[in-house]
Amino acid sequence: MPQNLTKRQVKRLPDEVRFSGRVLFLADDAEAIRRQLAGEDLPWPDTIALRDNISTDEITPAYICYYYDETLGDFPYLGLRAGKEFPITRGSIRAGGFVCSVAGTRRGKGSSREQSPYAELCAGVRLVIAESIERIYRENCQNLGVLTSTDFSLIQRVRRGEPIPLAVFTRGEGDITRGIIEFGGLFQYNVARMQGKVTVPAVTTPPRPMTLAEKIIARHWVTDLANDRLGVAAVRAGDEGFIRTDIRFSHEYVTPMAAIFWRDYVGEHERIVDPGSVFLFRDHLTFLDLAMTDARKAEGLLDVALELKKKQEEFATQQGVKLYGELPRAGQGLHGIPTGSEAICHSKILEAHALPGQVIIGSDSHTPHAGAIGAFAFGVGTTAVFNSWLTKDVRIQVPPSVLIRVNGRRPPGITAKDFMLQILRHPYVKDGHAIGKIVEYAGEAVEDLDIDERATMTNMAAEVGAFTGLVRPDEKAVEFLVRERGAKASEMRALLAGLFSDGGAEYETVIDIEAGDLEPMVALPGDPGNGLFIGELGKQVKIDIAYAGSCTAGKKSDMDMYAAVFKDALERGRRIADGVTCIVQCGSQEVKRYCEERGYLEVFREVGAQFIEPSCGACINAGPGVSYDKDTVTISAINRNFPGRSGPGQLYLASPYTTAASAIAGYITAWEPGGVAVGV
Ligand code: SF4
Repeated sequence: MPQNLTKRQVKRLPDEVRFSGRVLFLADDAEAIRRQLAGEDLPWPDTIALRDNISTDEITPAYICYYYDETLGDFPYLGLRAGKEFPITRGSIRAGGFVCSVAGTRRGKGSSREQSPYAELCAGVRLVIAESIERIYRENCQNLGVLTSTDFSLIQRVRRGEPIPLAVFTRGEGDITRGIIEFGGLFQYNVARMQGKVTVPAVTTPPRPMTLAEKIIARHWVTDLANDRLGVAAVRAGDEGFIRTDIRFSHEYVTPMAAIFWRDYVGEHERIVDPGSVFLFRDHLTFLDLAMTDARKAEGLLDVALELKKKQEEFATQQGVKLYGELPRAGQGLHGIPTGSEAICHSKILEAHALPGQVIIGSDSHTPHAGAIGAFAFGVGTTAVFNSWLTKDVRIQVPPSVLIRVNGRRPPGITAKDFMLQILRHPYVKDGHAIGKIVEYAGEAVEDLDIDERATMTNMAAEVGAFTGLVRPDEKAVEFLVRERGAKASEMRALLAGLFSDGGAEYETVIDIEAGDLEPMVALPGDPGNGLFIGELGKQVKIDIAYAGSCTAGKKSDMDMYAAVFKDALERGRRIADGVTCIVQCGSQEVKRYCEERGYLEVFREVGAQFIEPSCGACINAGPGVSYDKDTVTISAINRNFPGRSGPGQLYLASPYTTAASAIAGYITAWEPGGVAVGV
């Protein structure tokens, strides 16, 4: 532990807290909000209709997340829609002197971005009240020291400046969450833990049959942080504690904010723990300059976004941490921005770093990608990333497990993406029952997949809403590690010892999918759960853009699929359909080299597809392939198609085969080897 933290005074908040400031009602009526911003305190209880379903996108729209420090306090609720208006303007919340913010149901839904509660905190909001509060947003609030409650009787007490017992905010919470609230945030709690002022309750689960994930968790369970002791006999769903990480990574949306926390709370010159197992990535915004509208550029947002890159680079240099950054390419890009990243974070972690049985945390919801080789990998928020730099561990409450088996043999042309679109439309998943669970994928059809294809499934555990997804590591994982990294087969095989689910391990649900029943699938715009067999579309859907890329679909095996379809097309004298823009984007420089070696770049060029360098690009509405109007129809092999995800157009999801075949046909269609496009 850094010396200055051994002496840092950390103490629990007083037994009673007082709030001094105004209460803001996030109302459905723009005028009601404007009146509050002008200084009027609305009567309560009254007929104020509160806004439900306020997403983190509304609290801090994506472009606001280019800011990473206290400036965020200028922006909370800038995207909040009240009726048809957006009444909240820059600086108005801070200027209004609000200490408490009140909303309706499902506050903080959507993206897990911690910029949202941090923006509220920086604007002065210390208490969030809502009829219901989404889990990740609530956890982010707790980690930052923002109090949360669903008790509306507190409103009058806040207004009267009455003392409120802290216990009101900790009631019903587990020991660790209670501790985090009492210490005013995760960092303060962790310092208290490192100073021995709090003890994490021991896990007492007796030996029992465990799932693969539970075994990895049990091996990594921190029993004594100060003396670096790990491991318990067994865990079960609900056990709460900390687990030691093997790899921690973050991308440019998160690193700068975490770095600010590090500077402010720990000290700029303190070194992070075990920097060799920390990786940083510049991947999300590499091509932003090519996608951002001129209006946004005129507002100065591109310059703000470029600061993320600069700050991340500074932190990497200062800490001696490996940064997978951008590759310079003279004469390309605007503002001197080089084109192309070294890799998308998950792609590189799986290609070069993850090992079976490891615990990996990353700042992205698709961190479970590495579950393809049996790693326990999951996404965390900024405060958790920052704390892991200090403690190398991460808080966990063991989630229940769900087993999803894909049985039998898959028909030709059916891919992992088709499995996932079928899984996502299963009622158990679609109705949200898998949210926060561990998903273990198994069955003959999963075992038959190569590691890249398994990664499509574990990556899309994020769309399932799962805590993570993983596959039992087997000989294919060993072959992958030997082939991709030159690892020793015997050493890799040794890692597999014990990495399987025991007979009798507990699953909350088992879902069986028959691979033989599947046909190529497509998800209608709006949600990855809107899956249909292409034959069920019932009409011909013409496309304008085919985007073949992202972490999910920019791997080597994805490139094999695109190239197979395009070679087939070329042999039949066909090219990308007139009026269709087709973009192929790889997930790493390693994948690009693979394409070069196999002559794929030539195939892509001949068929009329544009090949571009690694980056998240259009997947995050930040690169070539985005749509600019609502009538544009895109087919894409990416993992999610929420409204606005890749521009305002209509985004259909499909497999790499279907994406490529549709680019040739000009409308959504499956691929039949030797036939290019079947049509509907
Ligand atoms: S490619 Fe898309 S899904 Fe993957 S990490 Fe980037 S933004 Fe996220």
